[in-house]
Amino acid sequence: MAVPGTGTHVLVFPYPAQGHMIALLDLTHHLASNGLIITILVTPKNLHILKPLLSANPSITTLVLPFPAQPLIPDGVENAQDLPFHLGPVMIAALGGLHQPLLSWFRSHASPPVAVISDIFLGWTHHLASELGIRRIAFSPCGGLSLAVMYAMWSELPKRNDPNDENEVVSFPNIPNAPKFPWRYLSSLYTAYVEGDPVSEFVRNDNLANIASWGLVMNSFTELDRVCLQHLRDELGHDRVWAVGPLQPKDHDQSGTAQRGGSSSVSANLILSWLDEHEDHKVVYITFGSVTVLTNDQMEQLASGLEKSGVHFVWSVKEPIEGQADGEYATVPPGFEDRVAGRGLVIRGWAPQVLILRHRAVGAILCHCGWNTVLEAIVAGVVMLAWPMVADQFRNALALEQLKAGIKVCEGAEAVPDSAYLARVIAESVDENRVERQRVMELCEAAREATSVRGSSVKDLESLVAHLAELEFPYN
Ligand code: UDP
Repeated sequence: MAVPGTGTHVLVFPYPAQGHMIALLDLTHHLASNGLIITILVTPKNLHILKPLLSANPSITTLVLPFPAQPLIPDGVENAQDLPFHLGPVMIAALGGLHQPLLSWFRSHASPPVAVISDIFLGWTHHLASELGIRRIAFSPCGGLSLAVMYAMWSELPKRNDPNDENEVVSFPNIPNAPKFPWRYLSSLYTAYVEGDPVSEFVRNDNLANIASWGLVMNSFTELDRVCLQHLRDELGHDRVWAVGPLQPKDHDQSGTAQRGGSSSVSANLILSWLDEHEDHKVVYITFGSVTVLTNDQMEQLASGLEKSGVHFVWSVKEPIEGQADGEYATVPPGFEDRVAGRGLVIRGWAPQVLILRHRAVGAILCHCGWNTVLEAIVAGVVMLAWPMVADQFRNALALEQLKAGIKVCEGAEAVPDSAYLARVIAESVDENRVERQRVMELCEAAREATSVRGSSVKDLESLVAHLAELEFPYN
């Protein structure tokens, strides 16, 4: 049988942040397995993240273009995880500097891509594709509710009556279930928007270009996001919206999984042996993703909460980056690791998250509700304790609460929860009889079905490949 996408050349362009890149690399693997010819664009410092993808798919070609110089981004920084969070919009705008080099590359290529699949933070690639007369498909690493809100806010530009009131309610009556929430739940990309400011306008135009793009591929699945997916199709006025998630590494590929998104700072075997010694579903995993660094006050309360809770845990601690105030961020309290020896494992730096979550010993996760982590937790069938910090995380936590698969325990990057309270909720999270455990197991089963033969995500992937295979480069 002929491989469906054989001969069709596609450019994949991930946004350089682990929370955006990892899932798109998993999708790229699926596209390559379906016979598409892939070129993937990165800047030099992100090349190493492609290692597992390239070793599994030697046919994929890389296009490495220099990171465009930007005075606010230190030399050598090319990934959002190495940049303070507030400079995110600057990085988004800086990458727009790749427009001309990329256009030249297309024009000099003997058999150029017929489509660009690029992250939603690279909306300008829609205009590039239009200039070339080819198609652009936006890749969303966010869930349906978040994306629907994102599209609505950038189109409608809602404003607050009182510009200082973070709690003022903003509502989206046209989105299913008419979500209403405090202003601070909106992404800082939007709340920091200043009309006329070049970076702000770049970000807005990017978002409008996403809406205008030919297609949308999402790391989500129909059974989880049905209503919002239909809403997005209605709003965009076409059916080229493909939900192909949860995008995950293959079960059997332990080395690829251990290397996913970065090199683990502790040997995967050591972590797995540690987990092997624990009972099923009794270990709590703690993470705040690839970007968020906790303050020392937060670390102290969390460490003390873990100590008091008596639970077994793996705590993934992201260390501060240059530019984050010395002494203010992310120190594990002195003596903590000795006091919890045998009961708790602290991983500083990159943790092999999916490998950990998939272990039978893990029963709950305390997390920031980054969308990838939410999906990974669903696939692993672990209960989620939500502490949304920034960006789409508030809306993801809201969606989880609506699904009854997660419990919000804290909220906001500034919040310092009380250790006794944390101890209690953490201890309760591994109770087998919780309603959230049953609900997350149902979602886990739905995700498994969506990604098995004839499942909704597999069908959407096939539809995406079939649409791509029909495209031709206009200059041929
Ligand atoms: N991740 C990981 N190890 C780490 C930190 C993060 O493997 O030490 C992965 C995690 O599994 C997820 C991604 O990085 O796939 C983080 O994405 P998410 O959307 O959860 O949060 P973000 O990092 O964007 O805040």
